[in-house]
Amino acid sequence: MAEDYLQTKGRIFDIQRYSIHDGYGIRTIVFLKGCFLRCRWCCNPESQHYDVETMTVQGKPKTIGRDVTVEEVMETVQKDRPYYRRTGGGLTLSGGEMLFQQEFARDLLRASKSAGISTAAESTAFSEYRAIEELLPYLDQYLLDIKHMDSAKHKRFTGVPNERILENARRIAKSGMTELSIRVPTIPTFNDSPEEIRAIAEFAGSLPNVARLHLLPYHRLGLDKYAGLGREYGLPDISPPDREHMLMLKKIAEAGSGLECRIGG
Ligand code: SF4
Repeated sequence: MAEDYLQTKGRIFDIQRYSIHDGYGIRTIVFLKGCFLRCRWCCNPESQHYDVETMTVQGKPKTIGRDVTVEEVMETVQKDRPYYRRTGGGLTLSGGEMLFQQEFARDLLRASKSAGISTAAESTAFSEYRAIEELLPYLDQYLLDIKHMDSAKHKRFTGVPNERILENARRIAKSGMTELSIRVPTIPTFNDSPEEIRAIAEFAGSLPNVARLHLLPYHRLGLDKYAGLGREYGLPDISPPDREHMLMLKKIAEAGSGLECRIGG
């Protein structure tokens, strides 16, 4: 008999199989449409708006966004079950922001857990805590972005202040219900000074139950998409940080947090 929650509908723009990022082992990543933030460096600008959009890709129009049920997504996710078993992999929700479509995200995670497939999600935790709390029982790994400790600067570069995110990070950590990793997109001119990384690391180190800290180096892979969507890129004049700088920040992050720190996701 079909379970009701398998019929919950949501809007996605991609499903990527065989990924080795964003969680353990080999993963299937489902990209949800819609985000509360507008990060200037976002490499998935097509994820930000919930509306179905048209993006020009290699000179041709491409429709971004389609409506699917949990059951339909799970048909794809289930195909790689043997890989998950062998590698400890599973389903990862990405975006966009899963909390923008909280009911769909919750039911997708629930369906995955019911099928014996482990779950992870990349998220900014920018929502009411109640919405997060509802999906924690179905989430094995929370990959939580902390972008800056200064709320005014956070707002200038992402469109929203950081208080709610920091408070939710504390509450998720305290709940002990999921494996929590803190991820820091490391962006020149925004948060890549030793002081800025140290401040985030000290915050991460003050939380209970944090598995590790990730520094995600800035890259420019999504740049063409802005032209394809007819939008301006918010950080036109910066370059990716070099390896020496990232290694220096990693040392600072380890010292500041007392946590294992990795470069990359
Ligand atoms: S939170 Fe992620 S998806 Fe949303 S705007 Fe920022 S980088 Fe893009």
